[in-house]
Amino acid sequence: MATKPDLVPRCDVHADRSMIKHFGTAREKVSGAVTTIVIWQCPVEGCRQTFHGGRGYYDAASTYRPGRPRRCTSHKEPMIVQAHGDGFTYVCPVDGCDYTEPLAPKAAGKKGE
Ligand SMILES: [Zn+2]
Ligand SMILES: [Zn+2]
Repeated sequence: MATKPDLVPRCDVHADRSMIKHFGTAREKVSGAVTTIVIWQCPVEGCRQTFHGGRGYYDAASTYRPGRPRRCTSHKEPMIVQAHGDGFTYVCPVDGCDYTEPLAPKAAGKKGE
């Protein structure tokens, strides 16, 4: 499944900030093989929001796993926050898919409204 080129996730808490690409490692539970994975992290100090393509958004500081990530209803891929018009929206990462979901207002950086 091809993904959209040049997709840079935005933090789902600080949607006005693009996340920074990092390389991490993951160990296969069964074989013990170590693989390199791409993860994205929020640049805001104190924010530990992380995005991983197979997992969606999660808090790297917490082992607690809040609800499931938003997934595209067609592709079941975790959705990515992108700038859209004047605001932000979740988009499906699959190339050619137009499915979007609105970002909750509290996550759009509009505190105090
Ligand atoms: Zn953040
Ligand atoms: Zn999709």
